[in-house]
Amino acid sequence: MSEPTFTPDTIAIPSALLPSDGRFGSGPSKFRPEAARALAERAVDYLGTSHRKAGVRKTVAELRAGISQLLGAPDGYEVLLGNGGATAFWDAASFGLIERRSHHLSLGEFSSKFVAVTDAAPHLAAPSVRAADFGEAAPLETVEGVDAYCYPHNETSTGVMLEVRRPAGDDEALVLVDATSAAGGLRFDPAGCDVYYFAPQKALASDGGLWIAMFSPAAVERVERIAASGRWAPAFLDLKAALDNSRKDQTFNTPALATVFLTVQQIDWVNGNGGLEWAAERCDRSAEILYGWAEASELASPFVAVESARSRVVATIEFDDRIDAGDISAALRANGIVDTDGYRKIGRNQLRIGMFPAVEPADIEALTRCIDHIAERLIG
Ligand SMILES: *Cc1c(COP(=O)(O)O)cnc(C)c1O
Repeated sequence: MSEPTFTPDTIAIPSALLPSDGRFGSGPSKFRPEAARALAERAVDYLGTSHRKAGVRKTVAELRAGISQLLGAPDGYEVLLGNGGATAFWDAASFGLIERRSHHLSLGEFSSKFVAVTDAAPHLAAPSVRAADFGEAAPLETVEGVDAYCYPHNETSTGVMLEVRRPAGDDEALVLVDATSAAGGLRFDPAGCDVYYFAPQKALASDGGLWIAMFSPAAVERVERIAASGRWAPAFLDLKAALDNSRKDQTFNTPALATVFLTVQQIDWVNGNGGLEWAAERCDRSAEILYGWAEASELASPFVAVESARSRVVATIEFDDRIDAGDISAALRANGIVDTDGYRKIGRNQLRIGMFPAVEPADIEALTRCIDHIAERLIG
C-alpha cells in the first residue's frame, strides 16, 4: 500500500457517483422536496392562519385519519397529538398513562431517557428495567406488579429494532411503544400495543415539535381514570386535555402548522402508493443494499450482530481500525452527503444511516459507492 495522499476535505467524489439527495440523517431526516413545495403553495391560505379554525383543523383531521389508515388502526383506536415531540410524550405518559410502576427495555439513548423520566417521577415507584448492551435487543418478559411496558420499536441510537407485541400472560398492563424512527416505515401488529407514539421528523419525513400517538381503548380508559383520580399533571402534559383537543382536531396550544402539513404530505404519499407495506418494502430494499454491501466489504460490517434485530430504517455500520469513520463522514459532508455520523454517546467507529421511506434505495446504493471511493483514498 502506498502512503495516503488524501485528507477528508480533499476528496472530491465524481458527480456520477453521488446520490440524487445527500440527506441520510436519522432525524431530522430527509423530507421530500415535493412536500416543501406543496407547503410553499399554501403559504398564503394555510400558514399564518388560526389552528382553531376550519383550515388548519381540516389538516389536523387529515393527519389523524391518515395515520389511522397508514398504521391500520384497529376498531376503537384513536389518534391523539400534542406539542413537544416524543420527549414531551414521555413526561406526559409519566403523569397520564403510568399508574404506579413501569417496566422498560433499555437499549440505547432514547429508551434509556424514558427510564430516566419514570425513575425521577416522585409519584411513581422506581421502574423495572431490562437493559441490553449497545447493538443488542432485550427480551420482553412479564414482570409482576407493573402497569405499563415501555420499549422502542426501533432504538434510533443503535439501529436495533424490536417486534411490537404484548408480554405473555399480562392483559392488564398497557404496552407503550416509542415508534419515533419506525412509524410509517416498519411493519407491526397494531393490536400488539396500546400506545404507538412518535414524533414525525424521522420515519415520517416531516419536521419536529409534535407528538402523535395511536391509543387503544384501554389506553384511553387509563387516561380518563387517572385524570378522574385527581392526580396533578402540568397542563401542557395533561393527556386528558390532549384527548379532548384531539377529538376536536385541535391541540392544547399552538402547533407548528408546517410540521402538521408536512406530516400529512408524507402520509398521503405513502398511503397513495400502497400504504405501510409499500413503505416497508422500500426500507427493506435499502437495508438489503446497505447491509449486503457492508457484509461484502473488507472494512465494514453491520454493528447489530443478530440479523432479525438489525433495523431496516436506521443502519449502524462498524468500520475496522484501518479507517476512521469520522473521516468518512467528514469526507461525505464535504461532498454534500450529510448526517452519517454514528451516535455520539455510543463512541464506536461507526456510521449511522437513515434509510427511511423518503430515502431512495438507489441513493443508498450510491452512498455505498461514495464510501468505497473515500475509503480507497483514505487508506491509500
Ligand atoms: C428522536 C427520538 C426521540 C426524541 O424525539 P424528539 O421529537 O426530539 O423529542 C425519542 N425516541 C426515539 C426512538 C427517537 O428516535
